[in-house]
Amino acid sequence: MSFPYDAPVSQTLFDRASLVTPGGVNSPVRAFRAVGGTPRFMVSGSGPYLTDADGREYVDLVCSWGPMILGHSHPEVIAAVQEAVARGTSFGTPGEGEVALAEEIVARIEPVEQVRLVSSGTEATMSAIRLARGFTGRAKVVKFAGCYHGHVDALLAAAGSGVATFGLPDTPGVTGAQAGDTIVLPYNDLAAVREAFAAHPGEIACVITEASPGNMGVVPPLDGFNAGLKELCAANGALYISDEVMTGFRTSKAGWFGVDGVRPDLMTFGKVMGGGFPAAAFGGRADVMAHLAPAGPVYQAGTLSGNPVATAAGLAQLRLLDDAAYAKVDAVSAEIRGLVSEALAKEGVAHTVQAASNMFSVFFTDRPVRNYEDAKQQEAFRFTAFFHSLLSQGVYLPPSAFESWFVSTAHDTQAVERIAAALPAAARAASEATA
Ligand code: PLP
Repeated sequence: MSFPYDAPVSQTLFDRASLVTPGGVNSPVRAFRAVGGTPRFMVSGSGPYLTDADGREYVDLVCSWGPMILGHSHPEVIAAVQEAVARGTSFGTPGEGEVALAEEIVARIEPVEQVRLVSSGTEATMSAIRLARGFTGRAKVVKFAGCYHGHVDALLAAAGSGVATFGLPDTPGVTGAQAGDTIVLPYNDLAAVREAFAAHPGEIACVITEASPGNMGVVPPLDGFNAGLKELCAANGALYISDEVMTGFRTSKAGWFGVDGVRPDLMTFGKVMGGGFPAAAFGGRADVMAHLAPAGPVYQAGTLSGNPVATAAGLAQLRLLDDAAYAKVDAVSAEIRGLVSEALAKEGVAHTVQAASNMFSVFFTDRPVRNYEDAKQQEAFRFTAFFHSLLSQGVYLPPSAFESWFVSTAHDTQAVERIAAALPAAARAASEATA
C-alpha cells in the first residue's frame, strides 16, 4: 500500500525520534507498524479533537487508549492539575489527594475494600500477581490468549495489544523460569480452566483475566464466563483477579463489575482513574491486601506512587463521571457503531462490530469473535485501507485491527458528523483492498 506523504513535520520528527529511540516511539503500537505510513506526532488536544504537528485536526477515536473519557483538556481537570502543580509536584510522603482518590475508588467499586496506588497498569497487574502468589503460597498463574495485562514478564505469553498486533509469539528477554509458571488458555473456555485446575491441584495462585477484553479487539465474556471463573477459583483455593485497567471507570461508574456484578478477589485499574496522568491501582479483599507491605510481608513500593498531580487529575475526572456522563458516552458510542456498520454494509464489506458498553471495535469478518483465534481470522488488510482512508480525512483510529476504539463525553454532533462524512470513502477503500 502506498501512503500520501502528507505529514512532513511528523515525518521529520519521526526521523529524529528513530535516531534516538528504538523504532521512534515510546510504546510500540504508536509506531503504525501494523498499518504502515508515518505516525502522527500530536501537539494538542481539545474535546474530541487532536491536532498534529502539521496543523491537521482529527476526530480522536483513541482517547489516549482509553483515559480521556471526558475528552482532551477538560477545563475542570486542567484547573485541578494547575491547582495541584502550584502546590508542588512530588513530596515522597503521604498526602490527602491519594486518600481521597482511594476513597473514591472504594466507594465506587464494592469488592474493593482496600486499594494501593501505583503509576501504571503494568505495575498494578505485576503487583496483584505477586500479592496473589504471596497470599496463596502458590506459583502458577492462569491467563488467557489475547488478553493483555501490561508488559509483566509472566503475563506476556500469548498477549494481546501490541504483542498481538505484531504477531509476537513470545518475547525475547522473558526467561523460561519467568514464563514457566504461566498457563495460557483460550478465552471464553471454562472447560479449559476446569482442566487446568484438575491438572495442577494446589498449584494455581490465581486466574487473571481482562474483565471484558479490549486488547484483541473488543471480545466480551460470554454469559457466565466470569462467574464461572470466580466459582472455579473459589473451589480450588485460587484468587480471581479481574484486570479493569481498560474497563475500570469506563464501561460504567463501577467499570465492568458494575455491568456483570461478579466479585473478584483482586482488581487492577489504570487509564481513566489517572485523568491523563500516570496513576493506576490494585485492590480488593481486605484480608488479601493486608499481606502487602508495610502491613504484611509482600513487598511493593513506588517513588511516585500516589503522585499529588496525578491523583488530583484522576479525582477531578472521576468526580465528573456521573450517570449522565456514562449515558452520554454510551449513546455516542452506539451512534458511531451504527454509522460504521451501515457504511461497511453499503459497500458489502463483511464485518462484525462488537461492543462492551461504550468500548467497541470492528472486526473484518462476518463471524462473531469469541477468542483470539477468531480475532486472527479477520481480514486485517481491509482494516489497513479503512484506517488510512479515515486518517487522510481527519479521523484518528487506533492503528491496529486488534484494539478497542474509545469515545468521550466531548464527542458531540459535529464530531460525529465529521466521522459520518468520512465513512463512505473509507468503507469503499476497505471493500477494494486486497491482501
Ligand atoms: N491491563 C490492561 C487490560 C490494559 O489494557 C493495559 C494497557 O493497555 C495494561 C494492563 C497495562 O497498562 P499500562 O499501559 O498503563 O502499563
